[in-house]
Formats: sequence, structure tokens, C-alpha cells
Amino acid sequence: MSQVNSPRFDNSYLRLPDRFYTRQAPEPVKAPRMIRINEDLARQLGISLEWLNSPEALQVLAGNQLAPGSEPIATVYAAHQFGGWNPRLGDGRAVLLGEVIDPRGQRFDIQLKGSGRTPYSRGGDGRSPLGPVLREYIVSEAMAALGVPTSRSLAAVTTGEKVRRERSLPGAILTRVSASHIRIGTFQYFAARDDHEAVHILADHVIKRHYPAAANAERPYVALLQAVIARQANLVAEWQQLGFIHGVMNTDNMLVSGDTVDYGPCAFMDAYHPDKVFSSIDERGRYAYSNQPGIAQWNLAWLARALLPLLDEDEDAAVLAGQQAIDAYEKQYLDAYDDLMRRKLGLTRTNEKSKALVTELLQTMHEASADYTLTFRRLAELAGPTPDQSSVANIFELPESLQPWLKKWRAQLGREQAPIAERQQEMLALNPVFIPRNHLVEEVIQAATDKDDFEPFHRLVERLAAPCSYDEGDARYAMPPRAEQVVARTFCGT
Ligand code: AMP
Ligand code: MG
Repeated sequence: MSQVNSPRFDNSYLRLPDRFYTRQAPEPVKAPRMIRINEDLARQLGISLEWLNSPEALQVLAGNQLAPGSEPIATVYAAHQFGGWNPRLGDGRAVLLGEVIDPRGQRFDIQLKGSGRTPYSRGGDGRSPLGPVLREYIVSEAMAALGVPTSRSLAAVTTGEKVRRERSLPGAILTRVSASHIRIGTFQYFAARDDHEAVHILADHVIKRHYPAAANAERPYVALLQAVIARQANLVAEWQQLGFIHGVMNTDNMLVSGDTVDYGPCAFMDAYHPDKVFSSIDERGRYAYSNQPGIAQWNLAWLARALLPLLDEDEDAAVLAGQQAIDAYEKQYLDAYDDLMRRKLGLTRTNEKSKALVTELLQTMHEASADYTLTFRRLAELAGPTPDQSSVANIFELPESLQPWLKKWRAQLGREQAPIAERQQEMLALNPVFIPRNHLVEEVIQAATDKDDFEPFHRLVERLAAPCSYDEGDARYAMPPRAEQVVARTFCGT
């Protein structure tokens, strides 16, 4: 294979001790075919488009060939899954091909997901059906376009092989890009084995990679914990303000970088309901929309616990530092959430008034089962002068019961200092019109799976790339599902 243009790897995780991973090549597949290449992301990463579009790259992204400098590994981790402890998991259907450094000097993992069995596969086949690959591609890229910290999708290929689930399905592989794939569960794995040395090494690695400022703090590992908690609080606030439900907030699915990862049975809400659950495996609603902020804190408490020996030499002092960091989460989360929500409404300051307006709005939306996304979008349109873009008024009507609230909100808007036109522009940029609605995602998965038709997938991905600029011609991508289109359950398909 030619060395020209292929990504330049620099594999820092591989320089960690052997017990952090297993060397594992992807398993070759029969007849790979490219589905899509994310050219924008490739440019950001400094990966050559010429290479990505080459037959060589197709073989690399299918796991049939290794690029020069790629030293694939499967990493080990543990997790609390739905509250239950699992001491040993790991990349069971993924391998890390290596790390690349982008033109700004930022390091990224390049991972194949669905690339075959590894020592951590347990009973699984290490593969992924096409549906979950398309879903992750669509939703992760939509989240990036919405400004939410997230892993990204660089490419997707079909394998030419079948994957057996409830039925036989086409197989596919996603190329996932992430600032790292180090999870809370990675720390838990070593901490549970009392391997303090490994926890120490991992913490230093994470500081260097994601939180360099912590290195200069008086207590670097306390600073690390605080920084992870702050980022996670911000992340969950972003999910909440968009009506995003992750679906599997197990501790192995939370990255210490603070990016969203593992788009399994995730979903965006259509009608607003605070306790909405989509995941078919979440029988008791542990990961319901309203539970997400609290679950994140619960997960972070496990990170604190894993880091305890590093927080202070004195055990009581360590527990105190950990507890204080965890206690700070709630305020950080609420501050972030309250700020985002009042900005969505065009209000300039967070105070008791703005919070009361948000609470009353959500209450009314809940009672009216109003569409979450379009309610906020319509409010943005109504906040000021008629926007240049098309209006969602033709596809959506605010509930009649919102009239008393609208009056209060308008009165409050009138009392604000900043010019309304400016605030409205911000509102239009904060309140998307296009989100990856479940029925749209299902529709494109079906076309691809049953008819080998990827056009609907491409069109959806492209539409979601500009979530806040509305054109009436694309109304079908903005509309809530009709009754018969509603998706009540989502599946992780693993
Ligand atoms: P998830 O809940 O999707 O994050 O997966 C939990 C664990 O199961 C991880 O260790 C995965 O690697 C593993 N896993 C999921 N699907 C498969 C599969 N098809 N084959 C092997 N391992 C899998
Ligand atoms: Mg996972």
C-alpha cells in the first residue's frame, strides 16, 4: 500500500501499559462498499480526501487492510450497566485503529465500530447491522451541527456480509472519531482491581490529553475530577435543552472528555413529556429524560470513587474533596441548563422570573403534548420582526392553552435591554427546526436495509447539517410524526 496521503498516526494509548488493551486487528469482511464519507470532518482532521476516496481507504475502513502506522487495539473497561456492576467489559465490537493529530494540534481516536470479535466480545459477534451504523452516523453528526460536544462519524461502509439478529440484516462498519474513548468505566476497571498504579497512569494520560490546565493546579487530580464534572454538567444541560435522550447512560458510555458517545437507542423527543423513555431495554425508565441529570451525577460519583487514592494522601481529606466535587455538580448543571433555556426564550438574564417562565412553559407544553422542537422554534419566530427564513407556522400551531403564558413572556421581552432583533437572531440560532426525528431515522434505515437505497440517508444527513436554517421546501424534515409514524421504541441492535 502506498504511503502517500494516508493519515499519520501517533498512538499514545498504545504507549500505556499492556494491561490497558489487547492488540487486535479488525476481522476482514467479504465485499465492502462505501456508504458515505464525511468530507467536512476529514478536512478538519487534516485527512486527505484523495486518500479517503481511494480503494485503499475503503479496505482500511472495512478492516481488510491496515494503513501505515495503524496499530489496532481493543481497550478494556468495566461499567455499571443499568445500575449493576460489570467488572470486565471492553471494546467488544470495535477497534481503535490509532490516533491522529489535527492541524490545530488536537488528538483524535480513529475507531472502527462493527469490525469483528475481540477478547472482550463475550457472547457477541463483534458486528453491527446497517441500521445502528446509519443511526449513529445521522445522530452524531446532527449533534455536532447543533453544537453539542460529541464523537463524530468519519465514514460508513457496508461489509457485504449478513449479521444475524432477530432476522438476517446487512452488516456495516462505522468509522468513529472521538477526542478519546476513555470512559468512566475505564477508571473503574483499574480501581476495582486495586491497581492504583494504573489509575494514576490513566489520570495523567487524561490530564495531558483533555485537561492540561489541571496539571498546574495545586491538587491536579482534584482539578481533573472537577473539570470532568463541569464538562459533564454542561453536556447534559445541552441534551436537556434539545430534548435529547441518550438511552444507555451506563458508566462505560460516558467519556471523561465530556463528549456524547454511544448512540444506541437514543432519541429526540417529539411531544414534550418530562419522563419520556424510548429504549426497549430500559424497562424501568432509569434513563428517562428527566433522570439524565441525576444519572450523570451518579456516574460521576463512581469516577470520584475510582480517583479517591489520588485526591489526597489522607483518606478523610480525599473523601471530602471527592464529595465536594460531586456536590458542586448540581449547581453547575442547573446554572448551565437555566442559562440555555432562558437564552432559548430570548431573555438576557437568568433570574427567578426567567426560571418561572421556563417552568410554566414546560408545564403547559406537557399538558398539551406540544412538539418540543417546534414550540421553541415558533417562539423564536414570534419574538421579533418577521424572520428572513420560512416560518414553521404552516406545519405547526402553538397550543391554545399557551396564550396566558405568551402574554407574560411578551411582557418580559419588552422589559429587556438588548435590541429584540439581535436577541431573535440568537433565538433562531439556538432553536433548531431540524432534528433527527425518530420516524425520519427509521425511514432512511428501512430504505437502506430493505431496498439498498441510500439516497434518503444522504438527504437526511445533508438536511441536518444546517439545523437552524429553515426552508419550507424541506417541511417534511421538520414536521412531527403523524400518528401512524410515531416511533415509540428504539433498539440498540447490538
Ligand atoms: P453498549 O451498551 O452498546 O455500550 O455495549 C456494552 C458492551 O457490549 C460493550 O463492551 C460492547 O463492546 C459490547 N457489545 C455490544 N454489542 C456487541 C456485539 N455485537 N459483539 C460483541 N460485543 C458487543
Ligand atoms: Mg458502549
